Amino acid sequence: MTEQLEAMPTDWQRALAIVAHPDDLEYGTAAAIAGWVDERREVSYLLVTRGEAGIATMDPGKAAFVREREQRASAAVVGVTSVEFLDHPDGVIEYGPALRKDLAAAIRRHRPELVLTINHHDTWGGVAWNTPDHRVVGRAVLDAAGDAGNRWIFPELSAAGLAPWDGVRWVAVSGSPSPTHAVEVSGGVERAIRSLLEHRAYIEALTDEDPESYCRTFIEQATSMASARFGGRPAVGFELFPR
Ligand SMILES: [Zn+2]
Repeated sequence: MTEQLEAMPTDWQRALAIVAHPDDLEYGTAAAIAGWVDERREVSYLLVTRGEAGIATMDPGKAAFVREREQRASAAVVGVTSVEFLDHPDGVIEYGPALRKDLAAAIRRHRPELVLTINHHDTWGGVAWNTPDHRVVGRAVLDAAGDAGNRWIFPELSAAGLAPWDGVRWVAVSGSPSPTHAVEVSGGVERAIRSLLEHRAYIEALTDEDPESYCRTFIEQATSMASARFGGRPAVGFELFPR
């Protein structure tokens, strides 16, 4: 008997999704985001890099431009219009106060109740090693949710007019090997596929498979993984860290 996942909280209005790279939210999480936008919740995206090191056949200077454009188009498919980029270097993001401060500043500006990120663990489960950027950003997001509410951490943010925000109630991590919660996403699956498909230059360099069938296969698999533990419905799982 597999333990069932709990339903994600619904008593919130604003979410901020913070990830390392363009495409990180499109490998599943966007199916949940589509549903939340349908419910008239506000969701904003913050990308820590422009994913400039993500396309082997494209110079980083050009890739940064292409991937930013693709990310904005992906967000638009699920109804997200607020998309911001920090310019940390793709592939070699450093954990430390500079990153935590940038994330705390964004949390203070957006004042979310729910913060989303992707897997901060060493692996995706088993021996599938995670990337350093995901580990670093995920952990910094979990830490910055606290930093944002403490007026004595990064006092220069207060001096710049960013008042502390102690209102983050949960950080939800998608792609975690240890999900605790899930949200049903039947209504968001098709938009999630189209949202991932907007990363066309990235996907065309990644695989010889037809981009549309690549996206459909991935999203249908991703949204069926949690479903066995969530009443058999297409779902996205999250490891939820209440605050
Ligand atoms: Zn990534």
